[in-house]
Amino acid sequence: MIGRTAVLLRDSAYRRPVELGPYPLEALARDRSAADAEQHHRLSRDALAPAATPLAAAARRYAQLFCGFAEGECAPGQASGSLDPARRAREIKGAAYYLDAAHAGICEIPSWAWRSEEAGHSHALVILTAEGRAIEPDNLAHAWLQGAQGEIARLRAMEIAVCIAGQIRAMGHPAQAHCVGRSRVHLEALAVLAGVARRKGERLASPFLGEAFALAAVTSSYSLAIDLPLAAGAKVHPLRHWWGLNGAVSGRERRRCAKRRSDLSRYPMELVRRVAKPTTLILEDEVPQVPLRANFFVRARHGDLGRKAQREVARFAYKHPLTEGMMPVLHSMVPHQDGPLAATPGIFGDPEANTRALKSLSYHLGADLTGVCEIPDYAWYSHGANGDPIAKRHKYALVMLIDQGYDTMEGASGDDWISGCQSMRSYLHGAEIAGVMAEFLRSQGVSARPQTNADSELLHIPLILLAGLGELSRIGELALNPFVGPRFKSVVLTTDLPLMPDKPIDFGLQYFCSRCLKCARECPVNAIPFGGKVMFNGYEIWKPDVERCTSYRIANQKGSACGRCMKTCPLNKVATADGSLLHRVGTWLGIRAFWLKPLLVPLAVWLDDWLRFGLRNPIKRWWQDLEMVDGVAVKPAGVNERDLDLGADRSGRKSPVGYYHAADMPLPKRAEAMPVCHRAAVDRAKLIETVDAAQARRARGGARPGHYIPGTWRR
Ligand code: SF4
Ligand code: SF4
Repeated sequence: MIGRTAVLLRDSAYRRPVELGPYPLEALARDRSAADAEQHHRLSRDALAPAATPLAAAARRYAQLFCGFAEGECAPGQASGSLDPARRAREIKGAAYYLDAAHAGICEIPSWAWRSEEAGHSHALVILTAEGRAIEPDNLAHAWLQGAQGEIARLRAMEIAVCIAGQIRAMGHPAQAHCVGRSRVHLEALAVLAGVARRKGERLASPFLGEAFALAAVTSSYSLAIDLPLAAGAKVHPLRHWWGLNGAVSGRERRRCAKRRSDLSRYPMELVRRVAKPTTLILEDEVPQVPLRANFFVRARHGDLGRKAQREVARFAYKHPLTEGMMPVLHSMVPHQDGPLAATPGIFGDPEANTRALKSLSYHLGADLTGVCEIPDYAWYSHGANGDPIAKRHKYALVMLIDQGYDTMEGASGDDWISGCQSMRSYLHGAEIAGVMAEFLRSQGVSARPQTNADSELLHIPLILLAGLGELSRIGELALNPFVGPRFKSVVLTTDLPLMPDKPIDFGLQYFCSRCLKCARECPVNAIPFGGKVMFNGYEIWKPDVERCTSYRIANQKGSACGRCMKTCPLNKVATADGSLLHRVGTWLGIRAFWLKPLLVPLAVWLDDWLRFGLRNPIKRWWQDLEMVDGVAVKPAGVNERDLDLGADRSGRKSPVGYYHAADMPLPKRAEAMPVCHRAAVDRAKLIETVDAAQARRARGGARPGHYIPGTWRR
């Protein structure tokens, strides 16, 4: 009964499968005979003109990087997944939409559609990506973008194509990615056959996007259920589309986004209250700078968390075939994070104009939320991966958040086989956005570096707080945004280009998290505290048990990694015009009606459970459970099938949190293992100060605690 009520209160998007995509293509009439006409057209814009502008050249350079993964070796064995072409098509189209394709369709490849003699593969997935938002003429980025829109859309299409080609090869079937300028097939003809575009004279058009799109394809011998060509003149019912009744992104939501200024996110962050300092205390003069060696994933690589974690850390997030397809692409960008600086400076403006332009560019490239801050010294790691000191090279950080995708998270438990892929998708996309921006800025004589998940010289969390993109949450070392909740990954672009910092935000999260324990209740290993905040390394924080969390994510045997706290948080929601009415009203009240919080927060927390938000939605489950073992995708031995644990013990008594103080960190260059001791870490709770105690100590003139000094206990 409750479950049924919950479904009724959801929006129509709740019932839309991911593999249908964000536009209602399925509502358009189809016409098989359009394929015959296409045989005579066979026209393709397959030659690339030289990149006309510095930004186009930066995007082209990244596209060329990705082209290196268009082909490759197949896995030595075929995946033990479904043989049903419809189920396979659901997965492959689901992956394309998950990676942000605007349209995806599948066709068989007729022999005439090959540009060369060697007709090989039987099927093609055709991917269409939309050009980003237009930028106003009085914005500096307007000039930067001239001639680069198509190049950027093509880069996005190629990103998706190479990842999916890699996925299919990981499942043991040959596959190749194609894009304009590097295609063995007539891309436009296949787009017509796969029903993602239709002829408009000699040109090609999408019924929803017109001609503002780019194409890529994946050809393969992996047999898939096919789509049919679109009928000429087929239209979607305007009212159904306007109101999003088919569950696709609605016309009114698209219009709302299109009308927003290009330097603003599609989420109305400008409505959120701004404050002078983050809502959690940071004792800036006490925060220790830590070496990268202290990061728990790095510690796992060195063997500090035991042999099993040391073995599994190399693959824990890459166990699914789609992630296997993404990883080489992600790693290929790391060497390009640094690059030569052009001697001739480009044209920039004052800090306000520069900030506006960089934000607009970030949104055009696909960032979901962007903010700016000055970088405090303590945010830089003291030492990098090789143990050498890190130079604080830039003054400003452009901080970008990339949504991990609501729909897929709805279908998942948070710690099943798609979980690692959700993180990697955002890291990949973030690295690409920041990489293109840095490449462009350096070509204009401005020093800039992307700081990515694969290679970052600084900690992102303090920057997210300072750039006004989130508040620190109960999940601990994770900030939470008022519109996407905790469901994002960050990427940072550091630069010396003068920028105008944003202010931190206050949307009442400290109050909300102090009364909501859902993430703590749902964490499979009790890594999140049920109690109050403490001072840790100079930060006021709900301190999680980092060792428990890291060990679980690395060694999870019934899934890949974990993001269950993110999945089940009541603030993991869609807060746009297409979100559920409850979530939209809740978000509006949350950022506008602070005085109502004592009444609304307990109600919201109760309602979230009563309506069973956080259950898996099987309609959204597009992927197959597969695990890469010794290079072959096999059916895993188990799958985490968690929903909600409403009756869990909320006391936290059974699982006291371990504290790994700075003094107990390995030294920067330590290569050999330095095993952690959880019992000792629990015992070290006695060193922890409350916020009041830390402030009282400072008022008395007390010194920074000794356990804040990195590595002093383990020399
Ligand atoms: Fe717990 Fe998983 Fe969140 Fe870690 S990621 S805190 S293990 S729910
Ligand atoms: Fe805060 Fe509740 Fe989300 Fe945890 S689940 S981060 S307590 S709002």
